Amino acid sequence: MPSVALALGSNVGDRLATLQGALDDLAMVPGLDLDHVSSVYQTAPVGGPEQDDFLNAVVVGSTTLEPLALLAATQGVENRWHRTRDVHWGPRTLDIDILAFGADRVDLPGLVVPHPRAHERGFVLVPWAEVAPQQEVVGHGLVAALAGAVGSDGVQPTTHHLTIRGEG
Ligand code: ADP
Ligand code: MG
Repeated sequence: MPSVALALGSNVGDRLATLQGALDDLAMVPGLDLDHVSSVYQTAPVGGPEQDDFLNAVVVGSTTLEPLALLAATQGVENRWHRTRDVHWGPRTLDIDILAFGADRVDLPGLVVPHPRAHERGFVLVPWAEVAPQQEVVGHGLVAALAGAVGSDGVQPTTHHLTIRGEG
């Protein structure tokens, strides 16, 4: 089964409850197995309008789903958490990005994997390095090396933890 890495982010409402709820929903997706989730980081927004800090985490696992079916599933979870898309890079209750899909590159309308900005974002790389340091970001290098290069400016550890429960 291809391995997958998903980035979760929230900066509106009860951010921690949203991240845990999203993880619970993802665990229920048939054909998606979640193995490890990072701890939760509080991060300064990058790009977009002035907005509140995010909580971010990365979850890794494996899937039998095709890439677009996985995207449909992650967007279904975003919608369940009342994600709206009014402002590009704006505040959101929940963002789920597909960071990596096995060793594949995906370049389809609506889905590009590895996520085009993942390799340069500390708020993605720092949590990702916690759970999959040796994963390769196709075309860019290993997660741990990329995280070291980008550094952790604006990425603060928290004492919050998410739990993988249920099964998909
Ligand atoms: P962003 O995450 O860049 O702030 P959005 O979450 O609003 O922006 O996503 C915009 C679009 O990005 C989605 O409609 C989706 O089709 C597309 N997209 C392309 N590649 C990916 C990916 N790897 N993971 C998630 N969405 C993606
Ligand atoms: Mg997104």
